[in-house]
Amino acid sequence: MKKKTNLGLATNCVHAGDKLDQHGGIFTPLYNFSTFGFPDTKRLLDVIEGRVEGSLYTRYGLNPTIKSVEKKLAAIEGGEAAWIFSSGMAAESATILAHCKSGDQIICFGDVYGGTYELFENSLPNLGITTTFMLGNEINKLSDSIKSNTRIVFFETLTNPNMEVVDIAAIVAIAKKHGVLTVADNTFATPVNLNPLLLGVDIVVHSATKYLGGHSDLTGGAVIGSKELLKPIWDWRKNLGQMMAPEVAHLLARSLRTLVVRVNAHCTSAQILAERLVEHPRITKVNYPGLSDSIGHNIAKHQMKGYGGMISFVIDGNGQETAEVVDQLKLFTIAASLGSVESLVTQPATITHNNLTSEERAKRGIVDSMVRISVGLEDVEDLWTDLEQALE
Ligand code: PLP
Repeated sequence: MKKKTNLGLATNCVHAGDKLDQHGGIFTPLYNFSTFGFPDTKRLLDVIEGRVEGSLYTRYGLNPTIKSVEKKLAAIEGGEAAWIFSSGMAAESATILAHCKSGDQIICFGDVYGGTYELFENSLPNLGITTTFMLGNEINKLSDSIKSNTRIVFFETLTNPNMEVVDIAAIVAIAKKHGVLTVADNTFATPVNLNPLLLGVDIVVHSATKYLGGHSDLTGGAVIGSKELLKPIWDWRKNLGQMMAPEVAHLLARSLRTLVVRVNAHCTSAQILAERLVEHPRITKVNYPGLSDSIGHNIAKHQMKGYGGMISFVIDGNGQETAEVVDQLKLFTIAASLGSVESLVTQPATITHNNLTSEERAKRGIVDSMVRISVGLEDVEDLWTDLEQALE
């Protein structure tokens, strides 16, 4: 395929990065090899020493299937380069290890996925890297929290599980003033609804397990940004052996081709369900940025193109009563993940945020009666009927 520039998002999802072979297959084939051969030593050295682009060894990422999906991801997020990983946590940890060392501090701004919290709170301190956790409504304290050893401000662009929307331009402005990197987890929002790099964020991370993969059949991660900031992350991925397998990369490319239509459909159904849930007598609170009276709506309207497929809501009842509602659902499967064609449901206090102390959960409004749904691609009327019968 000829090199294309300035193409739209859906076109990039379908075509960007594709490298066709001599047989005329219509997208990049699966190169399911761990290693690649060379005609002579000179060519091997040219590739190893970076003078010539070529395939070498899959763990390094020098595999055409992997390179192809990375180019697609870079085009979709608007970055110079992208690296893929075996999981979202691999992508996050390599990014932190590449840009922080012992004695450095991270600021984790707003709510984050429980696994990210665990990485920051439990694992990184063993390497001398500490984290200050801030709430999403503490933007006016951010500047004062940045110290001389702060290296990264980390945040989610649409937070888990409260669906909070942080003011990205404000965070970027403060971080830049102090010479600190910004790293944004864009998993929930997806590049269809938001491009953090275009708002000045330095590095975007994704759990590709979610909307990018979109079918609950792959585990993966991605990091997107400038070549300069991504270069050290490549070394950590290689040396920690965090590479995604070529079969999975091929599956991810397949999924990315339909990303725009899938995410737009998730958003449309989520908006309908959120508006109906607000009216339901058993529900005391609905968190969805597409609701005009939700806390983050004004920022979301300004910085997002769509409001996503995730909703959380609070039931008038205790944790046990909430579990009974969840257990009554037929079309929503109780499962820890999100962003798939199938609708999924969790109680964040029992799964994704189970590792936080009850005080930490309370501070963040993650009550036992909170339910989080990932709205799938089933008929929205069927999903509503299912929610209604379970709430009754
Ligand atoms: N970031 C967010 C927002 C997530 O929800 C998750 C997982 O649920 C991760 C990162 C970690 O991704 P993975 O499970 O692919 O390692």
